[in-house]
Amino acid sequence: MAREFSLEKTRNIGIMAHIDAGKTTTTERILFYTGRVHKIGEVHEGAATMDWMAQEQERGITITSAATTAHWKDHRINIIDTPGHVDFTVEVERSLRVLDGSVAVFSAKGGVEPQSETVWRQAEHYHVPRIAFINKMDTTGADFLNCVQMMKDRLQANAVAIQLPIGAETTFTGIIDLVTMKAEVYEDTLGKEIEIVEIPADMKEQAEEYRQIMLEAVCETDDELMMKYLDGEEISTDEIKKAIRQAVVTNKLFPVLCGSAYKNKGIQMLLDAVVDYMPSPLDIPPVGGTNPDTGEEDTRKADDNEPFSALAFKIMADPFVGKLAFFRVYSGTLQAGTYVYNSTKGKKERVGRILRMHANHREEVQEAYSGDIGAIVGLKDTTTGDTLCDEKNPIILEKMEFPEPVISVAVEPKTKADQEKMGTALSRLAEEDPTFRVKTDAETGQTIISGMGELHLDIIVDRMSREFKVDCNVGKPQVAYRETIRQDVKARGFFKRQSGGRGQYGDCWLELIPQEQGKGYEFENKVVGGAIPKEYIGSVE
Ligand code: GDP
Repeated sequence: MAREFSLEKTRNIGIMAHIDAGKTTTTERILFYTGRVHKIGEVHEGAATMDWMAQEQERGITITSAATTAHWKDHRINIIDTPGHVDFTVEVERSLRVLDGSVAVFSAKGGVEPQSETVWRQAEHYHVPRIAFINKMDTTGADFLNCVQMMKDRLQANAVAIQLPIGAETTFTGIIDLVTMKAEVYEDTLGKEIEIVEIPADMKEQAEEYRQIMLEAVCETDDELMMKYLDGEEISTDEIKKAIRQAVVTNKLFPVLCGSAYKNKGIQMLLDAVVDYMPSPLDIPPVGGTNPDTGEEDTRKADDNEPFSALAFKIMADPFVGKLAFFRVYSGTLQAGTYVYNSTKGKKERVGRILRMHANHREEVQEAYSGDIGAIVGLKDTTTGDTLCDEKNPIILEKMEFPEPVISVAVEPKTKADQEKMGTALSRLAEEDPTFRVKTDAETGQTIISGMGELHLDIIVDRMSREFKVDCNVGKPQVAYRETIRQDVKARGFFKRQSGGRGQYGDCWLELIPQEQGKGYEFENKVVGGAIPKEYIGSVE
């Protein structure tokens, strides 16, 4: 079998946003226009959709990090779902590692909000190339140019408008493409009847002005183009596109687009931009790792003829096939029915089946190639972050580091007979999620679960009930925190009492670790009695 899509025509992208900016709607519309979802709204039904967990819909957040394959203009676009909630930053980071580019969705009204800043910084950390989509152009208060300015001011990003909206709020009717200097106007509410027209006369001047700003910003990133520009030579549309792409791939520039996912405006242009400006796996540097035998550094580049290497970035319990291991192939090819070497665990594992997940169906494939993203059925011992490779050419790809959980609660089944069932459920959930831990308290024999925040643990308890049919009683949350309490804070009565190296805060006792003279105390992971009151969390600087 040969590959269906060349590497140049593969895009592995994420769609990132803080809650409510419209990530789900944008993703849903992308799947609609790429033809994999046939009716808008369908993405919310059935098990094999992006937001398939019932609670995600109820809470309106996306927790899982599944990957969905779509096709647009001869290209394969794999969409890796990145969660937007701050409690799940580890999941965000995990998905950011396996994608090559990302669409950052902002709300045209709020622009850059604190949470969008967090998500943006994470992407920055991994040098993920980004294009920005200013969504909700139809809402009251929508202001595209203000959002571009906010990106510059708050994110210090070289944000450059490559489009201009025609109208805003209720009069938002079309989009000007500053690269081609054509306009798209929307004739119907489904975004199916789109007319490509000349730029409206009353916007010509503004479009010229912003094209000039864009052109200068693009030329700044490309010496050759800058020479041409300074010499007053004509710069072609293709040249501009190529230069934007290069600047995006190298994180020098962030093109800004606009639209309204809800009103089906701007999604096709966004897809065009993904194809035009987002990197292919060939555009990104080879992935680095170490040889587990020699400890020497090694790199793998996206090439089907190189030895096989892949990263398992998400393990999910699937209602149909059991355990699903989402992977990205970095080099070589993967065949169904063969053995691979899990170099992280030092074990051989058999690849049962390989699935490619689409929005509304699963496709079984025999092979996966470098740059591909999919899911393996049949791996027993592989957990999130493990490297799969060719045993003769072993490599451990960059390790993912997970922070320690910060909050713990005791859980017990409502029905005593469910004790064993609860144990099984918890170990399955812990296998999926490296930031979730389970332990038995040595003194009390209670089962203690720990995670990244209260919401995280709420969701675990909810999943135990829904997926494993175990209802639990949950104790008071205990915060495991390492925090330095300054002397002056303490002096102003931070602790009710201090005695024997412990301090009482509210009705809980914390073990104190004295710091250098005059620098206060540090307490760590040690709630000696009672629970830290909620208002404490984050209140000590
Ligand atoms: P997410 O939390 O980022 O996934 O956001 P959703 O896609 O769930 O959208 C949050 C809310 O904003 C929902 O009520 C959507 O219907 C609404 N919404 C999303 N996109 C648009 C848009 O372009 N215009 C308007 N008016 N509402 C939108």
